[in-house]
Amino acid sequence: DKGLEKSSQNLFSKLGKAIVGKSKVDDEVLDELEEILITSDVGVETTIKVIRRIEERVSKERYINTTELDKILREEIASLLEENNTNDLADFDLPESAGPYVIMVVGVNGVGKTTTIGKLAYQFKQKGKSVVLGAADTFRAAAVDQLILWGDRVEVPVISHGMNTDPASVAFDTVKKAVELKADVVIVDTAGRLHTKVNLMNELTKIKRVMQKFIPEAPHEVLLVLDGSTGQNAFIQAKEFTRATDITSLAITKLDGTAKGGVVIGISDQFKIPVKYIGVGEKMNDLQVFNRKEFVDSLFK
Ligand code: GDP
Repeated sequence: DKGLEKSSQNLFSKLGKAIVGKSKVDDEVLDELEEILITSDVGVETTIKVIRRIEERVSKERYINTTELDKILREEIASLLEENNTNDLADFDLPESAGPYVIMVVGVNGVGKTTTIGKLAYQFKQKGKSVVLGAADTFRAAAVDQLILWGDRVEVPVISHGMNTDPASVAFDTVKKAVELKADVVIVDTAGRLHTKVNLMNELTKIKRVMQKFIPEAPHEVLLVLDGSTGQNAFIQAKEFTRATDITSLAITKLDGTAKGGVVIGISDQFKIPVKYIGVGEKMNDLQVFNRKEFVDSLFK
């Protein structure tokens, strides 16, 4: 996996350095491992959890060779991810739904929200699905234009009323259009501002409500986009958004340009929300369906 190389080199090479000249996993090695996980943005809570699990195994098995440490660490990380990612999709498949499958996308500006929507539209189109996009992030001028650009590039319709218009009204027209066109997927961009939590909550609730006029189950998915290179900020945003609305899945972007793959482990563990997609570049093709096994392997390659 080309995109994940930087994060992999990082965790593995740090681990390698920590155990140089040592044969046994002792307190010193565990302290180093703890520091490696924290500096890799796994987050304190999840790091402590992983270290405890390894300590337990060390005390049970009495003697663990340092060469086994990466295998054990790999197993523990995989098991943490498995607890929260029960249904890895093999590909860009959609669950069955009556009428269009509605994905509402949330996240703060700059995390790669628009890009992720464009990539998703592209991937679904590649799979033979028809897509309609809704430009309901009407707060940031560039957001509407950027989404229209992606729509042109990917050749899917974008419903937009321009800047500073009512986001709920854009969402309404988007779902209406998608139903008319019998589209397979609707992806609605929403404003990424977090000025006040109440504002955000009200706006997201209103958008959901208007969609439900056409499709009672909408949105089928609320996808939170987080920038994997921002470390603790990604944790803070996850906390804010999960308080504001029900998040059903995560997309973690920019895992190509950074050594911060650890965010995926910590966020998935702490928020119990499946990571569904990972962004590994700026191009249309640079979005992958998250596969926990591949991800863990890439950390140790
Ligand atoms: P938005 O404000 O959240 O809609 O963010 P954008 O979609 O405009 O993305 C912000 C910047 O991040 C743009 O320059 C994108 O090309 C870039 N970007 C988005 N996703 C990725 C990714 O997975 N990897 C890299 N390297 N850049 C990305």
